Amino acid sequence: MFKLSKKVQSLPPYLFLEIDKAKRQARQEGRDIIDLGVGDPDQPTPAFIIEALNKASRDPANHRYALDQGMPALRRGIQGWYKRRFNVNLNPDTEILPLIGSKEGIAHFPLAFLNPGDICLVPDPCYPPYKGGTILAGGLPYIMPLLESNHFLPDLKKIPLSVRKKAKMIFVNYPNNPTNACADADFYRQLIEFAAKNKIIIISDLAYSEMTYDGYKAPSLLEFPGARERVIEFHSLSKTYNMTGWRIGWASGNTQLISALAKVKSNIDSGIFSAVQLAGVAAIEGPQDFLKSMCELYQERRDVLVDGLSALGWKAIKPKATFYVWIKIPVKADSISFAAKLLKEADIVVTPGVGFGKYGQGYIRMALTVSQERIKEALERIKKIS
Ligand SMILES: *Cc1c(COP(=O)(O)O)cnc(C)c1O
Repeated sequence: MFKLSKKVQSLPPYLFLEIDKAKRQARQEGRDIIDLGVGDPDQPTPAFIIEALNKASRDPANHRYALDQGMPALRRGIQGWYKRRFNVNLNPDTEILPLIGSKEGIAHFPLAFLNPGDICLVPDPCYPPYKGGTILAGGLPYIMPLLESNHFLPDLKKIPLSVRKKAKMIFVNYPNNPTNACADADFYRQLIEFAAKNKIIIISDLAYSEMTYDGYKAPSLLEFPGARERVIEFHSLSKTYNMTGWRIGWASGNTQLISALAKVKSNIDSGIFSAVQLAGVAAIEGPQDFLKSMCELYQERRDVLVDGLSALGWKAIKPKATFYVWIKIPVKADSISFAAKLLKEADIVVTPGVGFGKYGQGYIRMALTVSQERIKEALERIKKIS
């Protein structure tokens, strides 16, 4: 027998085993499952992006190893996007690094700066790679609870001095998965002040910056004074352009942070397929009216789901961003058994909140990644069992 490394042993347990098993079994039995569990767009990648891939894939120049630091065309495209979207000027050679999906960069980044025993401040509930990347780098995640009473923002004042001293980095993610909370300018200013005082790197995950509703526009941390000294921001084409399977994203921000991540990556991967990079250029430089209709589609689904749940007496709030509805469980039950009950009795898959960390206990997450008709059907089924 082989013994797993201490790091791998200390990764958080995978809590969806039972639900996954029950889901597979339900499918095998031919039951009509409504899957509100996965955060993966159900709509196809826009045709103009697919065309760009097709064209680029036929050019033999794109068949060889790509440049580690990404194609200049892509970095310039990202520079233009940042300027248009946030009015932030980035140097495409030193402040932008394309990634094989943002998860890849998020998980590898802690390797660049953590020594054994160093602390990384991690929100809970959160996207799992924040904890996983920290642990694989030998660091210690220090949990910052995201509580409804604090609008699902970490309470920086509550972080003890001894922890601040040992902390090298902090993760934030707004618009947030799974709670769908958004950060305001005040929070970002406080965060930068806190990090500057304690010499901490800020890692900002902006995967949902373009998926917003009711006129809300999510800011970039890089818009704020002092951010350029200590922020690395992660972006993804996955959710914005329905490109989850393509694996393309990027990091932008402080030069030293970007070059350190590039150094780690140069020992691990060999860049993104060039044809995918060129498709990425087409995505960010192409017609953006697609985005508006995508947000409208999710917004309509959101309204149907949240209005429907409210009518059933559930406490659900309409998110102003992301395609997740974060719901307090309406009865006395833990999140795993409640999710199991929905699957068993209503053939509905939801994500138990505790899968994102212990402060997700008592919640479930529903994703707006099925059609309005299916959402209505799900509401009917919930009505029948409640
Ligand atoms: C989906 C998601 C990502 C994007 O991951 P990719 O690797 O770019 O597909 C990043 N962060 C969060 C919080 C997400 O939900």
